[in-house]
Amino acid sequence: MATTAADGKSLAVVVSERLARYGFGDGHPFGADRLAAFTREFTARGLEQRVRLLEPRTASDAELRSFHSAEYLEFVRERSASGTGMLDAGDTPAFKGVYEAAAGVVGATLAAMDAIMAGECRRAFVPIAGLHHAARNHAAGFCVFNDCGVAIEQLKCAGLRRVAYVDIDAHHGDGVFYAFEDDAAVVFADLHEDGRYLYPGTGDAAETGRGAAAGMKLNVPLPPGADDEVFATVWPRVMAHLTKFTPEFLILQCGADSLEGDPITHLRFSPQAHARAARELAEFADRAGHGRLLALGGGGYNRANRAHAWTAVVENLL
Ligand SMILES: [Zn+2]
Repeated sequence: MATTAADGKSLAVVVSERLARYGFGDGHPFGADRLAAFTREFTARGLEQRVRLLEPRTASDAELRSFHSAEYLEFVRERSASGTGMLDAGDTPAFKGVYEAAAGVVGATLAAMDAIMAGECRRAFVPIAGLHHAARNHAAGFCVFNDCGVAIEQLKCAGLRRVAYVDIDAHHGDGVFYAFEDDAAVVFADLHEDGRYLYPGTGDAAETGRGAAAGMKLNVPLPPGADDEVFATVWPRVMAHLTKFTPEFLILQCGADSLEGDPITHLRFSPQAHARAARELAEFADRAGHGRLLALGGGGYNRANRAHAWTAVVENLL
């Protein structure tokens, strides 16, 4: 059975201020203030004492290169030094030190992944991480480096044959989907607002994987306004999809922008949706015997929603 740490705490959480360095300044939806709302609620609910607190590390160049192209890393390094210009067509501006800040987010995800793989904890949560739009060779949608993609590559390097990636952020996880579209090592399931109404416009139900991975990817586009009732009807499809495979590690991108009241999306889930996703995936991982589940905060541009969705995830992973 899965291990429990000597201190009895099965869940590790990264709450370091280093994560707050990843933000695009005042007025940008992905500001540097995104962490504080979560940590306040996390402390107020007494969760700090109930989890193992993890310090992030910086991802090495070799780790970043396992997902991203050398040319793209060099491009980000140059823009990071000058602190000017955009990293993509217009959503993701450069700032001085953006390379280090983004590598810090990847490092936080990898520190959490390492702790799980070493058996120091069964599950982990990393706010701010889950930057699912970044592609191997370009930035996109506020995402510079794709920590989810780097983690998947590292798990494959460690010898895992099958990793599951589940995404309930309002936006389609295109950076993960297209990077692993034909990769049979990655089981993929993504609930998102229909691409006809929301960035990035992808994630049609007909996109089910290619080649060796045909049928291994589940995309479930939802209409604007979809609420907990809709979530309850489609979530069992995610669980049924996972049970067809035998993932040895689960990643949950639990973006809070699928909650009612987000300023840039149109889904209307409550934190109960995030709670259920976390709880059922944790149970699934435990039943598989390994217990390995890494939850990543993802999007969310309404302070209260981030605080409530992410603490609901933490409470359901305890
Ligand atoms: Zn999002």
